Amino acid sequence: MRKPIIVGNWKMNKTIAEAVEFIKAVDPACHDGATYGVATSFLALNEANKLAKNLIVAAENCHFADSGAFTGEVSVPMLEEIGVKYCIIGHSERRQMFGDTDETVNKKAKRLIEAGITPIVCIGESEAQFDAGETEKVIREQLSGSLADLCPKCVSELVIAYEPIWAIGTGKSATKEIAQNCCHIVRDQVRVMYGDEAADKVRVQYGGSVKPENIAEYMAMEDIDGALIGGASLKIDSFKELIEKTR
Ligand code: PGA
Repeated sequence: MRKPIIVGNWKMNKTIAEAVEFIKAVDPACHDGATYGVATSFLALNEANKLAKNLIVAAENCHFADSGAFTGEVSVPMLEEIGVKYCIIGHSERRQMFGDTDETVNKKAKRLIEAGITPIVCIGESEAQFDAGETEKVIREQLSGSLADLCPKCVSELVIAYEPIWAIGTGKSATKEIAQNCCHIVRDQVRVMYGDEAADKVRVQYGGSVKPENIAEYMAMEDIDGALIGGASLKIDSFKELIEKTR
């Protein structure tokens, strides 16, 4: 049985004070039906992680090198020092605006796994690729690169977020059938690369305009083990509703 994992991706939102207020309000509402979490800015991570008892707290990125001349970056040992246990890598905004590639995502995944931090590996096709019927090819290629040369057990413990770029922040969510089909392709690609056990255990999230009104229909699909949620994860009431709808 795969335990669902639902993570709010706050992106460049919330000061430390706002993060603290949110966690104080939402942490007690979590239940055992799923793992719930939030990804915060680097600045809020330490406070948030110290405060959260039930929520897991994730970084939104990391660098693959341990230290060095990489102005503005944060390394995995720095995350380890404050006890962070999850880290999003390869989000489409990072791929589009900050030069992340399958190759750098792969290096980040390797370094995180070595540190015992669970990577949440994001992939997903653009609108043009979707329109051209290239979704499956893109998913398989991104996973081939991003998950190259890992151990099967490591892959079984990963979280993979399938997020079609055309559905992110647009309100234009994928239908539950499209989301299921793509998450199935994700799992199949893991099967091709790392075998049955990794494929059956890896948790696959759908992301892209998930909200309290539609989360249950995604979660009911066979290959969808949770969601990565941007906009609808920012408000306390909305997050509490997401928690209630996934009981
Ligand atoms: P959204 O963002 O829920 O606002 O579409 C999802 C994401 O970027 O992870």
